[in-house]
Amino acid sequence: MKEFDYVIVGGGCAGLSLAYELDLHQKLDNKTLAIVESRTEYKKDKTWSFWKVIPHNFEDCVKKSWDLFYVEDGEKRTHHSARKYPYQTIDSGLFYKKILNTLKKNKNIRFFKNIKEIKTTNSFIFNSVPKVKKFNKDGENYWQHFYGIEIETKKGIEEDTSQMAYEKELINPEAVGLMDFNDKIRSWINFIYILPFTEKKVFLETTWITKGNRSIPPYEHQILDRLWSWNIISRAAFKGNFPRDDKKVDRRLNKIMEGRGSSKFVRNPFKVNYKEHGAIPLFHPVYEKKENQINIGTAGHMTRLSTGYTFLNIQEHSKYIRKNIENIRNVELFKQDKKYLFYDKLFMKVLELKEVAFTDEIRRDDYLSRYDNRIQNIFLKMFSSPSNTVIKFLSNKSNFYEDLSIIFKMPKLTFIKALFY
Ligand SMILES: Cc1cc2nc3c(=O)[nH]c(=O)nc-3n(C[C@H](O)[C@H](O)[C@H](O)COP(=O)(O)OP(=O)(O)OC[C@H]3O[C@@H](n4cnc5c(N)ncnc54)[C@H](O)[C@@H]3O)c2cc1C
Repeated sequence: MKEFDYVIVGGGCAGLSLAYELDLHQKLDNKTLAIVESRTEYKKDKTWSFWKVIPHNFEDCVKKSWDLFYVEDGEKRTHHSARKYPYQTIDSGLFYKKILNTLKKNKNIRFFKNIKEIKTTNSFIFNSVPKVKKFNKDGENYWQHFYGIEIETKKGIEEDTSQMAYEKELINPEAVGLMDFNDKIRSWINFIYILPFTEKKVFLETTWITKGNRSIPPYEHQILDRLWSWNIISRAAFKGNFPRDDKKVDRRLNKIMEGRGSSKFVRNPFKVNYKEHGAIPLFHPVYEKKENQINIGTAGHMTRLSTGYTFLNIQEHSKYIRKNIENIRNVELFKQDKKYLFYDKLFMKVLELKEVAFTDEIRRDDYLSRYDNRIQNIFLKMFSSPSNTVIKFLSNKSNFYEDLSIIFKMPKLTFIKALFY
């Protein structure tokens, strides 16, 4: 059986980023690498977005970069500048293509489908396959999960720009809708995320934070509701009961788009270019320490727990490994700054407080009518700090004074309660 100096298990974002970084810096000229990846084909399966607070290797895979983003609370839209740290979106299809084309030129790199095909006793392993329960089987841990579609319309997309629903304007392709709580479904943590590529091409995603899929959220409702408010489909498309699983969302959307008895619902003909459905674990999986192994990516705790952002942490981790590759068995593990782990743990406890309220059956009706906005308020208050401060805070780059400026904005009582929870 063939042996390699290094083995990367999982050729996804972290595995390929690391292999590319090593290859780019000639660390594989005299060393061999096996990449073990179980998928049969690579195609676009994710869009990775982030504020560009550090340089990265994938500028040529950026689909669009924005200097402006907004958050919206149902009453007010607040714009924030991202001129210093643009918000970028990477097309995973371009990312895979670029990396695979490069790696295939290096004779020291081989690809395998299964780890059993190689001998690993003397290799150093970079593992990116997290050992976690599947999202839909996990009722204990928090997950950020989402369902998104990239649509392309015939006419420009119109949106409400004021609470006067009659006033519509073309969607602004220069501003990302980072968190739009407008169509929020009561007492859940959910918001709409919008990446406007042009006035006619938009990525629209409904994003949720729940413990597993304890109750399957009504993704469809939010997607169709937004298509209606954008004047793409008519109100009549809402007839009947809303199915609660996303396969049925697909079916209903397809039916509308293909005009199978439903084209009368369409006001602005559209096609769906791409669909994204996924879940990010908002917890760090625990592993036993192994002498000859480092975990990378989601498995290597690179996810920022309060936001799900992982991509740039993966890039920093890859650089760290490349710089220390000659001494990789002895070097200290790369970790996110402890202070962010502390803040995020506190944030997760605030979620927990919310859960307590939600599962309190006796007060459930009362609770629903009170419409819990705690999490929404935390984010909105955070965004009342200067844009660059918030961006740096959410991207693990804030200094002590910037942290303080965010902390002072937070609802004190809620966080003190969470601290002692
Ligand atoms: C849909 C989606 C959108 C996201 N969007 C963003 C974003 O906008 N910004 C951001 O910062 N983060 C985002 N994330 C979070 C994070 O950046 C991604 O999950 C990222 O892909 C994590 O990289 P990874 O290498 O850890 O995992 P993956 O990219 O999932 O790679 C793991 C690889 O392991 C392979 N594999 C699995 N089991 C085996 C096995 N037994 N043997 C061999 N191979 C195996 C898989 O096929 C996969 O290719 C998103 C996550 C998802 C799911």
